[in-house]
Amino acid sequence: MTTTTPFPTATILGYPRIGRGRELKRAVEAHWAGRLDADGLRTAEAELRHATHERLIELGLGRDDASIPETFALYDQVLDAISLIGAVPQRFAGREGLDLHFALARGDATVAPLEMTKWFDTNYHYLVPEIGPDTPIRLTDRTVVDRFAQALGWGVTTRPVLVGPVTLLALAKAADGAPAGWSPLERLDEVVAAYRAALALLAEAGAPWAQLDEPALVSDNLPTPRGLLIEAAGRAYRRLAAPDAGPRPALLVTTPYGDGAAALPALAAAGVEAIHLDLVRAGVPEAPGPRALAGTTLVGGVVDGRNIWAADLAEAADRLEALRRVAESSGASGTAVATSTSLQHVPHDTALEHWDDPVLDTALHDWLAFADQKVGEVTTLARGLRAGRSAIASEIARSQKVLAERAEAPGVCVPAVRARVASLTEADRARVGYPVREAAQARRLGLPNLPTTTIGSFPQTADIRRARAAHARGELDDAAYESRIKAEVARVIALQEEIGLDVLVHGEPERNDMVQYFAEQFAGFAVTREGWVQSYGSRCTRPSILWGDVWRPEPITVPWTAYAQSLTSRPVKGMLTGPVTIIAWSFPREDIPLSEVGDQIALALRDEVADLEDAGTPVIQVDEPALRELLPLEASRHADYLAWAVGAFRAATAGVRPETQIHTHLCYSEFGQILDAIAGLDADVTSIEAARSRMEVLPELAAHGFARGIGPGVWDIHSPRVPSVEELAGLIGAAARTVPVHQLWVNPDCGLKTRAYPETEATLRNLVQAARTVRERI
Ligand code: GLN
Ligand code: ZN
Repeated sequence: MTTTTPFPTATILGYPRIGRGRELKRAVEAHWAGRLDADGLRTAEAELRHATHERLIELGLGRDDASIPETFALYDQVLDAISLIGAVPQRFAGREGLDLHFALARGDATVAPLEMTKWFDTNYHYLVPEIGPDTPIRLTDRTVVDRFAQALGWGVTTRPVLVGPVTLLALAKAADGAPAGWSPLERLDEVVAAYRAALALLAEAGAPWAQLDEPALVSDNLPTPRGLLIEAAGRAYRRLAAPDAGPRPALLVTTPYGDGAAALPALAAAGVEAIHLDLVRAGVPEAPGPRALAGTTLVGGVVDGRNIWAADLAEAADRLEALRRVAESSGASGTAVATSTSLQHVPHDTALEHWDDPVLDTALHDWLAFADQKVGEVTTLARGLRAGRSAIASEIARSQKVLAERAEAPGVCVPAVRARVASLTEADRARVGYPVREAAQARRLGLPNLPTTTIGSFPQTADIRRARAAHARGELDDAAYESRIKAEVARVIALQEEIGLDVLVHGEPERNDMVQYFAEQFAGFAVTREGWVQSYGSRCTRPSILWGDVWRPEPITVPWTAYAQSLTSRPVKGMLTGPVTIIAWSFPREDIPLSEVGDQIALALRDEVADLEDAGTPVIQVDEPALRELLPLEASRHADYLAWAVGAFRAATAGVRPETQIHTHLCYSEFGQILDAIAGLDADVTSIEAARSRMEVLPELAAHGFARGIGPGVWDIHSPRVPSVEELAGLIGAAARTVPVHQLWVNPDCGLKTRAYPETEATLRNLVQAARTVRERI
């Protein structure tokens, strides 16, 4: 260690990088389209980072105390760590610079990209490192140093941030060809050596602090048991922090998204200079022992990086005081304030927003804290920590006042909604036995073996997007919009009939997004205009804000579905989004338990399900692609979560008659840990992403004794490739060897809204043909 700069009392773990005006999205997309060259992209990056630093200084972080984290990435922070250590799979050979960077992220004409999956329990997607015994691992990229040096040139001493070595390997998958049972963690020593080399360069460039993010240390949901990850971290950080390892910045190791207490002793013993704990997800830890934290600053992540609610400053100050007592009784060198996670999960600034309802507009501005407001909360709390609570008495009083006003505001507590949730019984969540339903549905639907269907959405043409946008702006009146959408529905129904699918859909042309669409219609939600959050790469979403009690003022999907059904004698499937997914892809309120929010949404959906049924809809699908995403990282919390999640789905769907068929759809995840819950949903048919993971979910489900209808996806919709009839028949045939034929459905992996019509039509024709071929063989 060459520096003695103390850790700043106020910091954040990371800041949104997309830009207030989504400048990053525009720049990288212009680059991909060939409209902005590499230098232009670098200039855009520099402008954005520079503006971010200046903004953070304006908001109260320090210019030269390393309190500004550099969390910029052109595409993904995990990709940057992969580049840092040069862990590039062989198939990308021959590419370099930005071409290599974006080929890893998105593939190119001849190479498939790295896989993408969700980052801990968030809706952010990272690129999955592929690491095998022979993957090259050594420091090959200076970007992190260049960014630091460039900012220093602007007069700002930033704190470079890297995904930590243990987390990087814990999230990696074994490269193709690695021996069975081999774990990427076997390469830890080499990764640590590469990080040491990077830290040496940072020290040389003058960085007083660097931050290494180690959220893997809080998760029980990774392939490697948490105890082993913590042990590995002990080893890794002993080497990284070793006194004889040469010059390096002081190290902050963070443990966001969960409870880092178990990792605290190992990290402290390793000799890192600061340790961050997420005190939103977990309580203040016990003091680890009189000298256990000597030389370490404890950084309390008390401002929530995952929600958009203004903090309860009194409560946060209490936690910080408790943390300071732990620090003092363990010989720590200090206590500091931070966010619980990076702020990359929240939008930039509430000041960019306005809501049409003047009352709600005023209220929401008080209730909400986006990234910039959270920085303000951190600096306020840090002032309290330095100068005593009385120094921030007026801010605390204001925070109390806002919370009290919010609790009393109209719509936050709707007695009729509360009463209805309270009166839910187990019977409301239960249907008659499956055999009775199966027989009634078979009579009503008269489907062949291996019935074919899709997951709901059809390609969203530019024309449809334009019509929706024009309607939203008020340039297209309701009647014209309705006839435009109806024409699309009619076209999609005719196409499906002509292709010969068995269970049809209306195609979802009226939906911008499967959650926002419902949020716009339910009471209790506000949707934002500028509340963009990075989902992956240049892709952003605008999560809705669930602020009040949820109920359904009027039917939402019924007219479209009924219209679709009026056009065909084949069954049309109604299409809804489930309670867990609505919560996962919104910013939910936290003043009542999520289980209660789940039941409120479930009852609103139950009304919609009942109206669909009354309108003659024979099949209703309730999508729950986020069921696995919300699974808590700690194993001890799984059972509670799964109980309410499953209960909410059942409350939404169990009101129907036996002859109404309930479908659900799951995707984007590994399902091994939640098979009980999938069975517990008690859906008549479950369609599940399978093609992309080579059908690995099927034997698991079969072994689990799953006895309802199951539609393993046979087309990976992430690619425009058209699988042949033979290939599809092969997959269906393989499925039929694992699962009894009478249970099997034939469908794509997921909705088709990101696909184009040519490949969609061609593949659906092949899919129907493949189902027919296999039907004849059995
Ligand atoms: N019904 C939705 C669609 O087809 C499901 C999307 C999803 O699973 N993410 O688009
Ligand atoms: Zn899906």
